[in-house]
Amino acid sequence: MERKKEMLLARLVEPGKLRFETAPVPEAGKGQVLIRILRCGICGSDPTTFKGMHPFCPPPVVMGHEFSGVIVEVGEGVEELAAGRRVTVLPHLTCGECPRCLEHKSNLCETVKCIGGQADGGHCEYIALDAEMVYPIPDSMSLESAAMVEPAAVGYHGAMRAGLTPDDQVLVFGAGTIGIFTMQACKALGAKAVYITDMDKDRLRLAASLGAGGVIDQGEESLEEGLTRLCGGPHGIDKFFECVGGKGAVLDKMISLARRGTTLVMIGIQSEGCHVEKLPFLGEHELSLLGSNMYDARDYAEVIALMGEGKIRTEGMITHTYKFGRLMEAFDLAVNKREKFMKIMLEMD
Ligand SMILES: [Zn+2]
Ligand SMILES: [Zn+2]
Repeated sequence: MERKKEMLLARLVEPGKLRFETAPVPEAGKGQVLIRILRCGICGSDPTTFKGMHPFCPPPVVMGHEFSGVIVEVGEGVEELAAGRRVTVLPHLTCGECPRCLEHKSNLCETVKCIGGQADGGHCEYIALDAEMVYPIPDSMSLESAAMVEPAAVGYHGAMRAGLTPDDQVLVFGAGTIGIFTMQACKALGAKAVYITDMDKDRLRLAASLGAGGVIDQGEESLEEGLTRLCGGPHGIDKFFECVGGKGAVLDKMISLARRGTTLVMIGIQSEGCHVEKLPFLGEHELSLLGSNMYDARDYAEVIALMGEGKIRTEGMITHTYKFGRLMEAFDLAVNKREKFMKIMLEMD
């Protein structure tokens, strides 16, 4: 692929204001590769950053942390990657020295920064990154799927946190991108039955087409009714996953449905002022409430393998595609929600 001298990038200059700029194409430094970015997804958290309301990601910044592309140049000392390789990126900048970094748990690094939020990310044509952030993808994987490894890894990490067993019946709350990936990850990790609940029929239909063992449409029936239909009673679930976020209402519902001794994993981002009325039951019912934050290197490698084998799929998840030059329109949709969407994908070529 040709290497230009100048490139286009989009900078969030202030809340609500994206500006296209030209910038020199960076060079691959020592230990780095230069990537021509070809696809970049818009994350559920991007509208919050766009509005200047993300607590850790104030503008100015170049957004975009879910991207894929092709290596066009490798820097000194990089041996395992070569120009022409199609890749995706684990968007963590870490210190490389703290105890968690030494265990390759980049999500728990004391100073982890995410590119596309806390440092400049993928809303540009070229980016130079340390080779260890860059993961080759199999030939069978599309660039679109490769740009969705990041959200898939969020779900996979949460599923790994739960310590699933082959007897487990699972309920995922929320059939958005993260919920659908969490559902697929639980299946891929061998849970006996994986159910999902939401209020949006289209999302539930998509979840069913991607392998959900049963869906509960809370617009049509209560969770108790749905669980009785699917697993014989309202308390048949062994592992719960919160993929909604908010102020605690979903956690409350999960705790009230949880049988004694069961496990709840919190993947959705709870907002400040979150209030969980049923919290006392954690003790009384000996529930395990586990946090889950992003993903680490092992998650990335395993998700890429599972997607390559077709065990985690993306068919039907991308509802809208925009050329990079129409980024403002893409954000107008993501922020103002004029129509329903799931994943919005940007094309840089
Ligand atoms: Zn994301
Ligand atoms: Zn560290």
